[in-house]
Amino acid sequence: MPIFRAPVQDTLFVLNDVLGYERYSNLAGFSDASPDVLEAILAEGAKLSENVMHPLNRVGDMEGCVRNDDGSVTTPKGFKEAFDQYREGGWMGLAVPVEHGGQGLPYTVHSAVGEYMSAANMALMMYPGLTQGAMAAILVHGSDEQKATWLPKMVEGAWTGTMNLTEPHCGTDLGLLRSKAVPNGDGSYKISGQKIFISAGEHDMSDNIIHLVLARIEGAPEGVKGISLFIVPKFNLDASGNPGARNAVSCGSIEEKMGIHGNSTCVMNYDEANGFLLGEANGGLKAMFTMMNEARLGVGLQGLAVSEVAYQNAVAYAKDRIQGRSLTGPKAPDKKADPIIVHPDIRRKLMTMKAFNEAGRALVLWTAINSDVAHRSEDGGERQAADDHMGLMTPVVKGVLTDKGFEHAVMAQQVFGGHGYIEEHGMSQFVRDARIAMIYEGANGVQALDLVGRKLGLNGGRAVQAFFKEVGEFCEANRGDEQMAPYTKGLKKGLNDLQAATMWLVQNGMANPDNAGAASTDYMHLFGLVALGYMWGRMVKTAQDKLATGANGSADFYETKLVTGRYFMERVMPETSAHLARLSTGSATMMALSAEAF
Ligand SMILES: Cc1cc2nc3c(=O)[nH]c(=O)nc-3n(C[C@H](O)[C@H](O)[C@H](O)COP(=O)(O)OP(=O)(O)OC[C@H]3O[C@@H](n4cnc5c(N)ncnc54)[C@H](O)[C@@H]3O)c2cc1C
Repeated sequence: MPIFRAPVQDTLFVLNDVLGYERYSNLAGFSDASPDVLEAILAEGAKLSENVMHPLNRVGDMEGCVRNDDGSVTTPKGFKEAFDQYREGGWMGLAVPVEHGGQGLPYTVHSAVGEYMSAANMALMMYPGLTQGAMAAILVHGSDEQKATWLPKMVEGAWTGTMNLTEPHCGTDLGLLRSKAVPNGDGSYKISGQKIFISAGEHDMSDNIIHLVLARIEGAPEGVKGISLFIVPKFNLDASGNPGARNAVSCGSIEEKMGIHGNSTCVMNYDEANGFLLGEANGGLKAMFTMMNEARLGVGLQGLAVSEVAYQNAVAYAKDRIQGRSLTGPKAPDKKADPIIVHPDIRRKLMTMKAFNEAGRALVLWTAINSDVAHRSEDGGERQAADDHMGLMTPVVKGVLTDKGFEHAVMAQQVFGGHGYIEEHGMSQFVRDARIAMIYEGANGVQALDLVGRKLGLNGGRAVQAFFKEVGEFCEANRGDEQMAPYTKGLKKGLNDLQAATMWLVQNGMANPDNAGAASTDYMHLFGLVALGYMWGRMVKTAQDKLATGANGSADFYETKLVTGRYFMERVMPETSAHLARLSTGSATMMALSAEAF
């Protein structure tokens, strides 16, 4: 049976000590989540994750969801009750503004707890996760009446949400979308078409399901310019605003898939269903992006979460499993063999995962704080800088954290040897579950294209220049500090590689867009390494300061940070050179063969 312990101490270290959480107490919601309240919320979130959600992870994997003959879907045993606890605990509305029934607390706190819950049970957490995205779109693009109609019940968790983009012939390229919307003449529309792969499209956990559906209004232009977003409820509302007659939307089937079996992935059929335009006509993509940006950060978090839980299980196994002797002589002479944690190659795996998870957590929380600043600061300049950061980091967090999340699930499985391949240990589930995060919310290749094709050049490269400046200044400020030298040296080298790669893209990507496409995935990972390396620089600096000023009994914790950060700089950071070397060969060889030659 897999184990999971929420890394609360680590979250608190990142938030309070590294990112200076208290500095943001002037932002709305932050004073209500003062450091002691923050600690209490994390402890509660940890309890729910460890005691309620985690034990259901394997149940969900083994039972899966079942579509019944009447089109209803039954979720795995215990899911509804766990969701009820989530709902009753007020977790759904944690970061939703108070005027819409939420608690108005920082998104940062929501993200911190979100990591624990996704690590405990990714499939279960997708039901509220999709609802969060739908609420975000309604909050930003909905009329006052729409907000009043739909949000309170969603915030309560009585109704859940979905996002419906994908159609059989149309995934990445939404311009191909065919679902159509015909005006009823009273402001509402009849929505028809088929959507596939819709997460949480049908289930038994809420009283209503609020589908956000992309469709084309009759006569709208071809391509992405003619797409609009609609609210389509499973049950139409009666005169008092309660679920009434069934709308013409149904689940045709559920997919049999590789992982996240506890989440229903549905084919959704819309047969002249009642729908309500959300935002402007033909402005659907923009509205959907509100939802997708939030969702992309959430998916990045899933990558980190699975990496963390898989790592924890690998550590436990490596301490317990005895096999062979240490290369430097027995470490457990009383036993017939040493625990496998003595072997350097097992250490390589554990350290790689540990170094990534801790920096990944810091990167997610740093980005989440920027999200709060972007939405809550009263200072226009601060808001803009934070928004730039978010835009730049969204594809990096999504693409890098999920690629690595899967890689680390496999790495953790490898620690188990053959036992990792056997379902009983749960490692196979982590591998299968982590895989989807690389695909949905825009496959990772598309995230990389978003980074090089859109985000780098936006506003004359303002966001990327600000990032370079911040990391460069950090290296410069610590240049004379001998203790920091092992860390800043690697970080500076990584930053130089990233700047060289950016220059290469500017010079070669415009002239031949295939060069930009061919460079994109390497560039995204190079960017991720520098961002994670910068997080390590800051964590190490904080740990050193703490050790210098009296660690209050936490010396081991800070010493461990220094070693783990050093491992990252020695063993992970050098990959920036390989990425730079690869991407600067351009696209010529990659594109040389004709399609027939493959
Ligand atoms: C379990 C699961 C849950 C999902 N949940 C939802 C959901 O809730 N709502 C929803 O709307 N959708 C959902 N999806 C759909 C998912 O978002 C899409 O599968 C994904 O966006 C990719 O689309 P596609 O499968 O059609 O692949 P395609 O678009 O056909 O892409 C195939 C490959 O080509 C690459 N590619 C495509 N275009 C380009 C390009 N221009 N440049 C470079 N590479 C390119 C892609 O990166 C990918 O690797 C889900 C899918 C799954 C499997």
